[in-house]
Amino acid sequence: MAERLIVVGGDAGGMAAATEARRRRPDMEIIALEKGRWTSYSACGIPYLVGGEVGELDDLVVRTPQQFRDKHLIDVRTRHEVTGIDVAKRTVEVRDHEHGRTYTTGFDTLHLGLGAVPLRPDLPGVELPHIHGVQTLEDADHLLADAQEKDCRDIVVVGGGYIGLEMAEAFVRRGLNVTIVERDSEVMSTLDPDMGGIVSEAMRSEGITVRCGEAVVAFEEKAVVTENGPVHADLVVLGLGVVPNSGLAADAGVATGVKGAVRVDPRQRTSVDGVWAAGDCAESFHLVSRRPVHIPLGTHANKQARVAGVNIGGGYATFPGVVGTAATKLCGTEIARTGLTEREATAAGLGYVVARITSTTRAGYLAKSGRIVVKMLAEKRSGRLLGAQLIGTEGAAKRVDIVATALTAGMTVEQMTALDLSYAPPFSPVWDPVLVAARKAAELVSGGA
Ligand SMILES: Cc1cc2nc3c(=O)[nH]c(=O)nc-3n(C[C@H](O)[C@H](O)[C@H](O)COP(=O)(O)OP(=O)(O)OC[C@H]3O[C@@H](n4cnc5c(N)ncnc54)[C@H](O)[C@@H]3O)c2cc1C
Repeated sequence: MAERLIVVGGDAGGMAAATEARRRRPDMEIIALEKGRWTSYSACGIPYLVGGEVGELDDLVVRTPQQFRDKHLIDVRTRHEVTGIDVAKRTVEVRDHEHGRTYTTGFDTLHLGLGAVPLRPDLPGVELPHIHGVQTLEDADHLLADAQEKDCRDIVVVGGGYIGLEMAEAFVRRGLNVTIVERDSEVMSTLDPDMGGIVSEAMRSEGITVRCGEAVVAFEEKAVVTENGPVHADLVVLGLGVVPNSGLAADAGVATGVKGAVRVDPRQRTSVDGVWAAGDCAESFHLVSRRPVHIPLGTHANKQARVAGVNIGGGYATFPGVVGTAATKLCGTEIARTGLTEREATAAGLGYVVARITSTTRAGYLAKSGRIVVKMLAEKRSGRLLGAQLIGTEGAAKRVDIVATALTAGMTVEQMTALDLSYAPPFSPVWDPVLVAARKAAELVSGGA
């Protein structure tokens, strides 16, 4: 009998492993079990679907179940939910929602791409039908149907993280009144508060009402109630972050770590022999803080799952870790971060210097040139680059990749100042803003400023 791989989860963390394993092992039987209706979809595209930049929901599906069956000979079973794992017997229990039956089936190798679960606050009224999450295409479907059905004017987004921001932009594009409610002092708590403050200002200048430092206490039919009183809402979107969907794995005795994420080694092996994991359900290793972290991003899910697939398929690959790079956009403002923020550097026990500079995205004399703020952290003693946050107009965010590369290479800020970055007026000033920040940080490290 052919060796059997069972993959649980039909998105990036699951299917990238399944296809890579298939490429290397044409003889293997591969079954992929997905509780929803779609496979390999881009949740990242949901805000652009809601905002009208993407025509229809199906445009967000990168590869359909039938394409996996035809092209990769993977037995994809949608609306099949794994409800239990027995690692001793090497079986999974599956609820087939399509036919209303439950069955048990065996595996030789198991790969978990279970994803994450969005946080829903345990508050009165949270189950009201106009309160929406935006984690899956099903969520997007419900949200769009609800928005079309009603004559919506006032939208409240709860949570000022990057998903909250992107959803706020989506509704601004639709010409609706948007309020964002955030418990912290500023939006974007993945940035330092001074940088988050710039984002809050950018939101206000787009006409968004920003209510920071205000906790939600309840949801009502036509309002979100904060500790300061009710805010009128025809439709509410929750963007409060996610936690790893690791309950099934933990119940089966698979070790978990940070925030309950499945613990994996650099080859994506879990603590149980023959059981692998990747994506939002799993931990990553942070290359700057040298600590395990849970950073749920599609970019990691794809890379980790490919590594798992190579190894499952008999090859050798490792996922060395992450540096915490992320980018987002609010209308005309681009926002990015990588490495450690001040809070994260402090938590990692690192002494640091901070350089914050303001420059332009292109040569200042060009009409399309805009403002960019770069905040860079370096280790006080060694000058090692620790991280950066960038906010600015078009052309700002992708500069974070320079910093991410330098972080991965373990460069000092002094070494960064000599990087041979390109220059031409339409792309940057002579001194790229990243280099200006590195130069200032290097001066601070050497005590020269
Ligand atoms: C609105 C939004 C915007 C985003 N934007 C970005 C971005 O710009 N950049 C970025 O890098 N990331 C972004 N992300 C995050 C990114 O979408 C996720 O990190 C990525 O989808 C993780 O892939 P995954 O396969 O690990 O998990 P998921 O995409 O959550 O997939 C897990 C799958 O497993 C299935 N499943 C769960 N339990 C079971 C079970 N018991 N049985 C069977 N199936 C099960 C689920 O139905 C799901 O389809 C965004 C996310 C959202 C919601």
